[in-house]
Amino acid sequence: MTENNAKPPIIWLNTLVFLITFVIAAVAVPWYAMAVGIDGSFWWVMFGTLCFAGISITAGYHRLWSHRTYNAHPVVRFIFAIGGALAIQNSALHWSSDHRVHHTHVDDNDRDPYSAKRGFWYSHIGWMLREYDASRYSDYNNVKDLQKDPIVMWQHRHYLSLTLLLNFGWPVVAGLMLGDVWAGLLVVGVLRLVLNHHTTFFINSLAHVWGSQPYTDKNSARDNGVLAFLTFGEGYHNYHHIFSADYRNGIRWWQFDPTKWLIRAFSWLGLASGLKRSSGYQVEKAKLQMQLQRLQMKAHKAPPTLLEKAQQHYDEMAVQLRSYYQARKKLLDSKAQHLREQVNMDALKAQVEELQRSVEQQKRHWRQLVTQIKQHA
Ligand SMILES: [Zn+2]
Ligand SMILES: [Zn+2]
Repeated sequence: MTENNAKPPIIWLNTLVFLITFVIAAVAVPWYAMAVGIDGSFWWVMFGTLCFAGISITAGYHRLWSHRTYNAHPVVRFIFAIGGALAIQNSALHWSSDHRVHHTHVDDNDRDPYSAKRGFWYSHIGWMLREYDASRYSDYNNVKDLQKDPIVMWQHRHYLSLTLLLNFGWPVVAGLMLGDVWAGLLVVGVLRLVLNHHTTFFINSLAHVWGSQPYTDKNSARDNGVLAFLTFGEGYHNYHHIFSADYRNGIRWWQFDPTKWLIRAFSWLGLASGLKRSSGYQVEKAKLQMQLQRLQMKAHKAPPTLLEKAQQHYDEMAVQLRSYYQARKKLLDSKAQHLREQVNMDALKAQVEELQRSVEQQKRHWRQLVTQIKQHA
């Protein structure tokens, strides 16, 4: 074996933490539950702690610090810094730095720190078990903005003590309050931590292999409603990789994205501001483009005239969609102005309604074309 093929050295601290906590969660917790019994209240405290730490990662580490999709009040940032330390996923600074590299170099086996192309195990947990990336471990050049956030830097400096204090302190306190310190440590401490770990890790592994790709196939990220349910809404990962500046991952009202709901609730309370959204036009266009591309790839046997028709219809629809979204934005802006200056909006309203009708009609026609072409596939 040449030197290049040799695997980098094992990071024993990470390996032992993952291994020991997993064994305790899989063996000691069920054993304790059967032999001694665990009061129902512990499961509720565990669930609450799991949600707190998990959402600190999704709303804090991910959508606030890695992607800057909104601004948060210092109180919120402090709470996320605490919850993030409880989740034991490194400091917000380090996590965000890794994550920004993941987005810039997604699927690049040499540069994406958890490239899904290196396999499920590697992207899930393997990347943290060996010194794969030692050279850039403390390179925080891509998070200079976060270095200006005193809360991020405070958490980064005191990360180890915070982590130990919270992960032992809180389960012990919960155990004392509920009358069983061992149950506190096992359920609120270890089992909760293992669930926090693996649900987050699923985003890097499962969300890059299992699910649909409605917006782009330029990277391996997938949309997956089941995963969204387990990850506080982060399962809409295909959307996220193409529109990562959006504070939402599930953009439809019915898509399960409690992280988005929390951020919106914070904004109503004045604790968050500047919530960024992608333009509806860009989102719809990306989706149509994917549909067209799939039709062209799959429907070899469809008559060329039909495919040409689809291309032409797509082009027309893209133009019409842009006009519609532009007019809609103008209407929304004017509505705000209307409240101040009594602007007459009737003409603008009529224009938006007209455009909306025409877009709907085009979409119906498009769906017919898609079904027609698919019959030839
Ligand atoms: Zn991301
Ligand atoms: Zn990803």
